[in-house]
Formats: sequence, C-alpha cells, structure tokens
Amino acid sequence: MKLDFTAERVLAVVAHPDDVELLCAGTLARARADGASVAMCTMCRGNRGLAAGESANERSFGVSEVRQAEFAAAAELLGAEVFAGGIGDGELEDAPDQRRVLISILRRFRPTLVLAHAPNDYHADHRAASQLADAASWFACSAGHVTGEPPLQRPPAVWLMDTVDMHGFTPGFYIDVTEYVPLKRDMLACHKSQLERAGDSDFAPLEELMFRQARVRGAQAGVDAAEAFRIHAAWKRVYAW
Ligand SMILES: [Zn+2]
Repeated sequence: MKLDFTAERVLAVVAHPDDVELLCAGTLARARADGASVAMCTMCRGNRGLAAGESANERSFGVSEVRQAEFAAAAELLGAEVFAGGIGDGELEDAPDQRRVLISILRRFRPTLVLAHAPNDYHADHRAASQLADAASWFACSAGHVTGEPPLQRPPAVWLMDTVDMHGFTPGFYIDVTEYVPLKRDMLACHKSQLERAGDSDFAPLEELMFRQARVRGAQAGVDAAEAFRIHAAWKRVYAW
C-alpha cells in the first residue's frame, strides 16, 4: 500500500527554522513528488539561535534574518512556499494574538493536511507550536475569527510529527522517505548558522541526529529511512484516505 498525496495541500507548522529537516522534510518531498502543493511555516524567528560564547548584543544585528534566509533556501530546494509567524524564540505560547497569526497563514495557504509538533516534544516552543496548530487549524474554519481572509471550509487533517530524538513518541504510522534522505541532508546544509554550533556542549550535531532518527524509524518500519507520525484523532479531525 502506498499513500498518495496527489492534489493535497500540505503545510508543516514548526517552531524554528531548522525543525522541518529533522521531522518531516522527506514527507513533504514525497507529497511534492506526488503533485501536492507544500508549504513550511516557522512560527519563531530564530533570533535566539546563537552559538556558544556569542552574546545577543554581538549578534542581534542579524541572527533572525540569517535564519529566515536559511529557511527560505531550504524551502526552495523542496519547492515549498514559506510562511513566518515572526514570533521571538522562547516566546511562543497558545495565546489569542499568536493564534490569529497562524489562522491568517492557514487561510492564505488553505491546507488539507497540517504537520504539527507532538504535544510532548522537548522544547517549550515545540509544545506551544503544537497547541497553536491544533487551535488555529480548528478556528480557521470559524467565521467568528476575523483575519481578512475567508474561513476554511473544513478543518485540515493534522498529523503529529515525531519528537526530536524520538523520546516519548509512539508512532501511529511511518512514511518511507528513503528516496529523499539526500534532499533532507541538502536542506539541512542550508542551516549553516546552526551546523556551526555542532561543537557546542548544549547543542546536538544536527546532521547526526537527523540521520539516526530517519534510520531508526526506517528500521522499525522495514525500510532504509522513515519519518513517523500519529494522527490527531478528535471529533471532525479524522479523515479516511
Ligand atoms: Zn525547534
């Protein structure tokens, strides 16, 4: 059996500019190859992604801009549209103003499927992005939430992505991304500012983390590389494929 993404519109809602590569880039690439329209939205600006020893004052001139450019370059390799929530790193929360930002993005792209962080992922911004994606993808259908764009006809399906390093996440299903591992690597290579942090004691080498996770999830599913997801199972949120 092979899932077919033809004519779907898939939007990945992530917390930070470099989260897509690790958790869902292969799935987006597969969707794109099937003919789906794909998009990536980073809710945070990446303004606090500093290397060890750098102070915010030294680098505040451009961290956010550098990381947004890296995000855009990675999206271009994938053929994905980009959206940005524009919220500061560490400041993401499920609050009405931030919901409104994402509701507007959802209404502009009009996804049929949203890929969202797992609600128990390691980082507070990831957990907040998960809550925001859940709430906003529901309220985006409600005419009572005014943003200037027409409401969605129906809520998109939501797939919860694997957690970083797979902690506390029981996969519901796996997407075979074996064919797209080189693309994941090339997209990750766009995030030069973060790869330079590989030696920081408080920062894992991203490439190794990405390959290991894809390999482990792949081994569990009997393929070379996979990305794992769970369906967000709730009333009016479940679809049959
Ligand atoms: Zn992140």
